Amino acid sequence: MSKQFETKAIRQQLERSQYLEHSTPLYLTSSFVFEDDEDMRAAFAEEKERNIYSRFSNPNTQELIDKMCALEEAESGVAFATGMGAIFSTFAALLNSGDHVISARSVFGSTHTLFTKYLPKWNIETSYFDVNIPETISELIRPNTKLIYAETPTNPGVDLLDLEQLGAVAQKHGLILIIDNCFATPYLQQPLKYGAHLVIHSATKLIDGQGRVLGGITVGNKDLIREIYVFSRNTGSAMSPFNAWVLSKSLETLAVRVDRHCDNAFALAKALEKHPLINWVKYPFLPSHPHYQTAKKQMRKGGNIISFEIKGGIDAGKRFLNAIVLCSLSANLGDTRTIITHPASTTHSKLTAEDRTAVGITDGLIRLSVGLEHIEDIKADLLNALEQL
Ligand SMILES: *Cc1c(COP(=O)(O)O)cnc(C)c1O
Repeated sequence: MSKQFETKAIRQQLERSQYLEHSTPLYLTSSFVFEDDEDMRAAFAEEKERNIYSRFSNPNTQELIDKMCALEEAESGVAFATGMGAIFSTFAALLNSGDHVISARSVFGSTHTLFTKYLPKWNIETSYFDVNIPETISELIRPNTKLIYAETPTNPGVDLLDLEQLGAVAQKHGLILIIDNCFATPYLQQPLKYGAHLVIHSATKLIDGQGRVLGGITVGNKDLIREIYVFSRNTGSAMSPFNAWVLSKSLETLAVRVDRHCDNAFALAKALEKHPLINWVKYPFLPSHPHYQTAKKQMRKGGNIISFEIKGGIDAGKRFLNAIVLCSLSANLGDTRTIITHPASTTHSKLTAEDRTAVGITDGLIRLSVGLEHIEDIKADLLNALEQL
């Protein structure tokens, strides 16, 4: 019988070396040696799998990839220096000049920049669908459409897309479905089960979970992964062995960490929902969430991201942020430390109010990445800041 999630996250590891170490050592080496000329020839001819050079592969990176494949139930994977390295390399490897992409309108900011600024350089156009009306995807399909791209839950709106529905559309039209599973992690949601072909992660977020290292990974269908691997091996956005070692170690505690993140977030969402200065709270496992049924169907728990709208617009948002004492104002998420952002006045201030509304960012929207501090301390910080509005 295949092992349970937590067991795989801990026991999927490299074979022990001659020293019989209990936990995996760090293989900090740029290259590997060959026995003789024939050994080297066979390695370069790819007649056998072995490490040659750490831009191509490294034992620590391989351990992380194998573990992520076990957790996402994927055939194969590639690791990258960052989440954006994973996303860009996946697109660059699979798309050709003249191809067309369909993406959810609300995606991570840098991913959106790839669609608007870089892919057009190679004559690749992107069409967008509103996450609240995914039925419109079919209308966007063209003869040259190659792939569908989406995140769920979305950033920063915390909207949800029905993975089963996306999988069905992709299958019906023969399109590649790619899901950025960063907000959920494989512990909460496994998109490959619903027909996604590839899953991408920014490992920088909950996979590291402690705000220390950057990393990215793409896992899924082995033929697609092969193309992405060859692209990565030749273009150089490989993950460092050190980061892979940290991230593989982090995965050992993913389930317990994410459980607590979710429990804290759910408790906080319920407390905030009752507050008179808050118009609405969006959290996947609150019955008031517009996609609550989808959340229950495809997620184990609701995740650690909450969005809510405070009364009073942009100015109230700024004052609220400035009254926060414990939580951090930072451009990360999925850290042990609770992070709070006011997108309209900070991360998304360059967009026009109209463009912000199109991706669900209203003037009073606050995004919280709930951390692992004690729930009562997080709650007190937020309620105290609300009191000062
Ligand atoms: C952070 C993030 C990325 C990019 O990851 P990096 O590791 O910062 O390059 C991509 N997608 C989502 C949803 C993210 O939150």
